[in-house]
Amino acid sequence: MNLYREQGVVLRTWKLGEADRIVVLLTQGEGKVRAVAKGVRKTKSRFGGRLEPFSHVDLSLYRGRELDIVTQAEVITPFRALREDYDRVVAGTAMLEAVDQVAQEREAAIRLYLLLVRALRALDGGPRDPSVVLDAFLLKLMALEGYRPALAECAGCGARGQPRCFSIARGGGLCERCRTGQESTLDAATMPLLAALLGDDLDTTATAEPAPASRREAGALVKGYVEYHLDRRLRAYPLVAR
Ligand SMILES: [Zn+2]
Repeated sequence: MNLYREQGVVLRTWKLGEADRIVVLLTQGEGKVRAVAKGVRKTKSRFGGRLEPFSHVDLSLYRGRELDIVTQAEVITPFRALREDYDRVVAGTAMLEAVDQVAQEREAAIRLYLLLVRALRALDGGPRDPSVVLDAFLLKLMALEGYRPALAECAGCGARGQPRCFSIARGGGLCERCRTGQESTLDAATMPLLAALLGDDLDTTATAEPAPASRREAGALVKGYVEYHLDRRLRAYPLVAR
């Protein structure tokens, strides 16, 4: 079975030689795939602009030793509106970057793939604030990767009730008994906002317009939380307008 078919989203690309391009994709069945698209940079390429970041494509690939080879690519969703808006492109780029960091090669990633496609659709649909959709996406991604933050109970003792302070290292909110005193007390609206970003579906989040103070606080916590637990910097994240 050297030829296979997959649906995927292009995460990043780079040039190879004169005319070819290497494409990194997140696919449903094969996880992260690195493939070469031959002749893609020629004007008469049969792939045209179909293999650019954000492209949601149906692919035929030939399994190679180091790199697979793309033999066919058809667009499933063009995400045209997303591509034409700077704020949405930057928020989407931060999503692609995070997915690139967590996805494993040759390991099915159906839930991750579906989450990414839903998030790109939410960005494409014209959200009130792309950065809010990005934060919701990142919290859902963390939950998927096994780092679901405790937001409705204490991360230390499990006591129910929404905590007012947050510890990135301990994985979420802390009650008054478990807090060490180093954690700052959050704006009253921040924990409810984080809980909504994690729990609501992305279409609901796309219509949300949270208050600026809790919005900023939540954003800083999301960034810190993701970077700490993935042990990676989110390079595109600070470029997102908020
Ligand atoms: Zn506690």
